[in-house]
Amino acid sequence: MKFQNKKVLVRVDFNVPLDKAYNITDDTRIQAALPTIKTLLQNNNAIILASHLGRPMKNLKADGSIDTAKFTLKHLQSHLSKELDLEVQFAEDTIGDDAKTKSEYLKPGEVLLLENTRFNEGEKKGDLEFAKQLSLLADVYVNDAFGTAHRAHGSTATVAQFFEKEEKSFGLLMQDEIKNASKVLNASDKPFTAIVGGAKVSDKIMLIDELLKKVNHLIIGGGMAYTFLKAQGGKIGKSLFEEDKVELAKNLLKQAAEKGVEIHLPKDSIIADKFDKDASFKVAPSMEIEDGWMGLDIGPEAKNDFASVIENSKTILWNGPMGVFEMENFASGTRAMAHAVAYATAQGAFSLIGGGDSVAAINQTGLQEQVSYVSTGGGAMLEFLEGKELPGIAAINQ
Ligand code: AMP
Repeated sequence: MKFQNKKVLVRVDFNVPLDKAYNITDDTRIQAALPTIKTLLQNNNAIILASHLGRPMKNLKADGSIDTAKFTLKHLQSHLSKELDLEVQFAEDTIGDDAKTKSEYLKPGEVLLLENTRFNEGEKKGDLEFAKQLSLLADVYVNDAFGTAHRAHGSTATVAQFFEKEEKSFGLLMQDEIKNASKVLNASDKPFTAIVGGAKVSDKIMLIDELLKKVNHLIIGGGMAYTFLKAQGGKIGKSLFEEDKVELAKNLLKQAAEKGVEIHLPKDSIIADKFDKDASFKVAPSMEIEDGWMGLDIGPEAKNDFASVIENSKTILWNGPMGVFEMENFASGTRAMAHAVAYATAQGAFSLIGGGDSVAAINQTGLQEQVSYVSTGGGAMLEFLEGKELPGIAAINQ
């Protein structure tokens, strides 16, 4: 990202949550992009920012038109101006006359925010013509939108082909995400423990498959654990269960045994009589859950087992909660894992939290500063960890 005196098109991920009055309720994604923008400004560049916001094409108005009032990036203009301490300009379109004119007159040290990239049909299609028009606004291209790096969209991937190799670069956030995810996957410090949780086995098959090649320990918690427990002959009551994944679970357990990976399943669970925050609950062995009851969190013995594996690890990857952490009565397993990961990190382990819902889970515990790295990319990080080449990364490397 060594550009100087250039007009730089920067693809950021400004897909922030807004309240009904269009105030930003969580600006984490904006904060994550600021170092790249500030560094480019210090180097006397003019900056053209492109991002999507929400899903305008999936939420059209009754007459079939785009709800521009709801999905406009203009909602972010004043907040961004404040954060950058300068007057951010706004273009009423992404590749139209306003964007062209304002880009043309943009001077070093100035910032122009383009309208929502997803107002254009060509964005999600990865359309060549759309990407070409976008590329014509700038001299060079920086991709800092890790959160959308797994999408082959116009502004995240296609646009890069209109820039020579030395005219394009990752932003600082992208560099960080790639560096940390690569560090965990190439873990040289052993033992390497992966903690995988969340609702479904089907969402995590590829991740587990990839991790079995690399880890020493695989801790499986959350709803997905019950399909594995059932595959081992357990009685799981009405816990979350994917019947069509039982054979796969058996196969993954067999593969783990062949590869010498130790699998850790919860010996006990917090079981509840219904999926409700006010449900009755008690501790039970995970292999002997009564009919009519369901496991919604790992139990006290499992918490201890898992914590001692984590606390003796040197590299840790955590993806997915251990239970229904959104409900207070079923959050303690997830919280205990967060404490164990923070403890191991304080002892010198490298820990990465990322993919899916894991970030919400660690943020809820307030321990996000006590782990080595918290990824900003849910789906993108999951795909990276699955060993896939992300289109947004490939496009810069080509
Ligand atoms: P994921 O997005 O795959 O990481 O899944 C996260 C979701 O899994 C959260 O919303 C949790 O509430 C849910 N979850 C975790 N454990 C369980 C469980 N034992 N039963 C049902 N849902 C669960």
